[in-house]
Formats: sequence, C-alpha cells, structure tokens
Amino acid sequence: MYKKTPKERANVACEMKGTIKKQKMHARFLNTFKPSTPLRPFLFALSTRKPRTRNQIKRNRRTKTNPFPTIFSLPNELIAEVVARVAATSANDFFNVVLSCKVFNRIAEDNYILRHVTLEKFPVVPWGSTEQAFFLDKCKRSGHPEALYREGVIKYFSFAKVEEGLNCLNSAAKIGHLGASYVLGVILLCVEKTEEEGRRLLSYVRSESGIGESRKKLKDIISVTWLKMRLKPKPNSCPMQEQHRRRRGWPSDSDDEVDCEACGCHSEVDFVCNLLRGIITY
Ligand SMILES: [Zn+2]
Repeated sequence: MYKKTPKERANVACEMKGTIKKQKMHARFLNTFKPSTPLRPFLFALSTRKPRTRNQIKRNRRTKTNPFPTIFSLPNELIAEVVARVAATSANDFFNVVLSCKVFNRIAEDNYILRHVTLEKFPVVPWGSTEQAFFLDKCKRSGHPEALYREGVIKYFSFAKVEEGLNCLNSAAKIGHLGASYVLGVILLCVEKTEEEGRRLLSYVRSESGIGESRKKLKDIISVTWLKMRLKPKPNSCPMQEQHRRRRGWPSDSDDEVDCEACGCHSEVDFVCNLLRGIITY
C-alpha cells in the first residue's frame, strides 16, 4: 500500500483546513446577512421606488402629456377667435357650439364673441320670445353694433326716447356701423347746430357705398314698428338746388349720382322724413 510522504500529508491537511475555513465563513455570512429593506412581494420587490399614494397617481395622470391633443389644448384667445368666427357666420351653429360643452358655454359669454354674433335671423322686435329678447339685450350690453343700431332706432322713433336712442346710435356709429351713421347723420341734419356733424356722417356712409343698404335697413325696421317720433327737414341750403335737382332727377339709392354735398344730404333727409310718414321715395 502506498503511503503518503509527510510533505503530501501536510498538503492534504492544509487543503482540508482551507475548505473548513471557507465553509465556516460561508455559514457565518448566511447567519449574519440581513437585507437593508424588507423584501416586497412580486413586482414591488424588484423596484426600489416607494409606492405611490392614490393622490400622487391622480396628479400624475392629470399632468401626463396627452399624445392626442384636443381643441382645449389651444390658447383661450385662439378658441375665442374660432367661436367668434362661427358666431359671425351662423347664429344656429353658435348656439350648437355653446350647448356642446361647459368650456364653450363659458367662453361664449365673452363680450368679444357676443359682439360678432350675426343677428340676421333675429327679428327686429322679438315679440313674445323672452329668450330672444334676453339674448339681444346681452348683445347690446356687450357693444354689438347691429343690436345697438336697432335699439337706437326703436328707442328714438318708436318710444320717442331721444337721449337713449341717440346714445345707442352714437355708440354703434363710433364702431363704424354704416346704418347707425346714416340715421344719426339724418337726425343731426334736422337739429340746430349739428348740421356739420350730420354732413360728415353722411359723407362717411357715401364714401363706404352704404347709402342704399342703410336706406333698406331703416325701412325694414320702420315697417315692423309703430312710430311716435317724426323728423322735420330744414330747407336745402344749396343756392344751385334747382339745377342740381334737375340733373339728379328722382331721388335714388345709388351712391354715385349725387355730386353736390348739400343737395345729397337734403335728399337723404327727405327720404327718411317721407319714410316716417309711410312714403317710400325710391
Ligand atoms: Zn346742390
């Protein structure tokens, strides 16, 4: 039998001693090892983040960027511009937009939008419709030029509330409403010391080619209201009125045929005075 030499026996003893030492170290490590944080079940054990509270989750959902932006991601000014353009095109479409959601409903209360709503389909006097009367009043308070013009004509000629009527017409004319400038110009031409301003307003309407349209608008309002107020025309101050009248012939709603300012203004005053008496002279 082979006997190990003393050197070999010493080596074996050393190896065994090393193995025992490693085993002891491993056992000591297992006994003393404790994780720094308690292990969490399943997926949470893999994550080092703290669990989020319900409020945090809601907040994160709110602030999360929507990959499909809606119209409400646009600035409010831009949304107001879009709604104003819809309102200027069709009152029915505007009311549908207003009823579609709370955001549009709130934005539609803006004066800028109310000033742009077309009143084409609205009656001049909303008999028996409180909703229409309420909406027209809201438009008037927002500074809607057409609503102010209608209110001014009705207040002045139908209710004989001179000051209120003139205020409404003046507000509409300042914004550039041609019909209001026309009516206000004619009224001022019939009043002492305001002829110059009246002539200026009618010249402005003529320069914008708005005489014919202004006559028609006034006729449409006058035809559906009763009248309390009449205008008294002043004599024509033009020294050449006979020749000018012969050249012009009958009064016309054309904007190009009048070449004398005094005769042209007098012709418009005549037209409105006759209209108020129920005579249409064109
Ligand atoms: Zn003349």
